[in-house]
Amino acid sequence: MKGTTPAIPDQVDVLVIGGGINGISAFRELALQGVKVVLMERDDFCSGASAALSRMVHGGLRYLENGEFRLVRQSLQERDRLLKNAPHCVSPLPTVVPISSWVSGTLPTIASFFGASVKPHRRPGLMIRAGLLLYDLLARHSRTMPRHRGLGRAALRRMVPGITESAVGGVLYFDARVSLPERLGLEMILDTEAEAEGRAFSYTEIIGIEAGQIRWRDRLSGASGNITPRVVINATGAWVDIVGSAIQPGANSKRVHGTKGSHLMIRNPELQAALGDHMVYYENHDGRICIAFAHAGAAMVGSTDILIDDPDAAVCFEDEKNYMLEALGNVFPHLRVDEEQIVHTFTGVRPLPISEEGATGRISRDHSVDVEPAGRQPFAVLTLIGGKWTTFRVFGEEVADLALAELGRARSVDTYDLKIGGGRNLPVDARERAAWIRQCAGTAGLTEARFSTLVSRYGSRSEAVAAFMAEGDDAALASAPDYSRRELLFLIENERVREIGDILLRRTTLGIEGRINAELTSEIAALLGSTFGWSVEETSKAVARFNETIEHRHRIQH
Ligand SMILES: Cc1cc2nc3c(=O)[nH]c(=O)nc-3n(C[C@H](O)[C@H](O)[C@H](O)COP(=O)(O)OP(=O)(O)OC[C@H]3O[C@@H](n4cnc5c(N)ncnc54)[C@H](O)[C@@H]3O)c2cc1C
Repeated sequence: MKGTTPAIPDQVDVLVIGGGINGISAFRELALQGVKVVLMERDDFCSGASAALSRMVHGGLRYLENGEFRLVRQSLQERDRLLKNAPHCVSPLPTVVPISSWVSGTLPTIASFFGASVKPHRRPGLMIRAGLLLYDLLARHSRTMPRHRGLGRAALRRMVPGITESAVGGVLYFDARVSLPERLGLEMILDTEAEAEGRAFSYTEIIGIEAGQIRWRDRLSGASGNITPRVVINATGAWVDIVGSAIQPGANSKRVHGTKGSHLMIRNPELQAALGDHMVYYENHDGRICIAFAHAGAAMVGSTDILIDDPDAAVCFEDEKNYMLEALGNVFPHLRVDEEQIVHTFTGVRPLPISEEGATGRISRDHSVDVEPAGRQPFAVLTLIGGKWTTFRVFGEEVADLALAELGRARSVDTYDLKIGGGRNLPVDARERAAWIRQCAGTAGLTEARFSTLVSRYGSRSEAVAAFMAEGDDAALASAPDYSRRELLFLIENERVREIGDILLRRTTLGIEGRINAELTSEIAALLGSTFGWSVEETSKAVARFNETIEHRHRIQH
């Protein structure tokens, strides 16, 4: 039946637990080497931290002050790889840093670099420029974007109208952004399943161990079973310790202490106009970096960084909203944001290593892997700790190499230059792109404008989407007329959709754009219901599950 997943095997070489970006990356690496690998994710793919990031594909300018040069160099290289390998959804992001003083704050910044604990302070412009010189230097081998440059007071104001008078100047540098990170994760799964022996299962939770076999349960169908792997990769991010004790009872090791981060999507014309195409990267009074940039038809403002014990309890509270709005108000003092302009929020937990650092911002953002060979348990366990979204490829590569060593196998395929999903065969040259759009639009009987919209959503996959749309009667959705019924049916039938939120929150930007309402929800529910043969009762239960998720995870909690 359409949309169903294949049967879960009972023996595999490798079981990856957790379908966030890092688990998916390890899964892809291993499957491409010919390893028999299964991935199980308890919710939808990329619905944990990998759905909650600031959408920055970056070297991490801030990590330089923690002395994490290796991480920054590696992240810059991966950023530049993603600009080439996923050009349909990763694009340059010009970034403006307003500067309140060129020299004040130099001593505490230097002291902090050398590990001293100092009071919150503003970073001086000279140190930011020194950091950016190093940033440019570290990116020199893979450089795809211009070097940074200074901005005088007037240039800063032209670029970011309404910025605080207290800014004496600024700096412009270039990083990158990802339009829909959840989609990129899904596309890696689809690529892998089409070409290799890997199989990934969503809504399939690991619940424990039984006679040396790992026990799983499908949270939607209620089916359950056991699987016997030779190697287990625990890629459950902020949940690694919980899952670790489920599959290794009694081990009880504590490796991760997550920090929660929230974002606000604000539809405010003045703010969106001030931001233009730039990200503004600014400090709050406590020295914490915040960001704002135009994204998905709104301004995305973030984020917080708060230690949290239970990752399932991560929601955006009123005080976090106030913190983010206050920080924004310091940079745009004349801006007024009304409550109803906050159209969506999202929160996630960074899987950070246990640390003695007092300030959360100083905890390393680097990644590592704990290796426990088979012995105490019948399979080897590799536990992933940390890992930014930007570095998913290289982290997955490192994990796969460790798993290959456990299996006694060698690497045969490299992902360095491997294009992803809708980034494959996508013309990047503007003239070639225009000619391709003209030709594909003609073949599918669509206008060039409509096909271009599909390209902005799905890259080169638009050809398959458009061909599917042409195969039957189509109509615009009543509640989102820029999408058509057959466009969404294509996603439902071909992109491992099982729940309403999979479409609204992770296969499209409808959720983050703040467009969710009862009418849209019921239109999507009807499409899923007709595809999967849901009864009226099953459809209303699916709607209730989705509404609960929205209320709990995407609205501010008082
Ligand atoms: C607020 C915030 C902003 C960020 N901004 C950026 C940024 O701009 N750029 C950047 O590079 N990085 C950023 N990051 C970091 C980045 O998002 C994460 O480090 C990365 O997504 C972690 O991916 P992961 O796969 O390790 O974990 P996750 O994405 O959390 O995946 C772990 C998965 O394990 C699943 N799971 C848990 N228990 C089980 C079980 N029992 N069985 C099966 N599955 C299970 C979960 O459902 C989850 O999907 C940010 C993070 C946050 C929170």
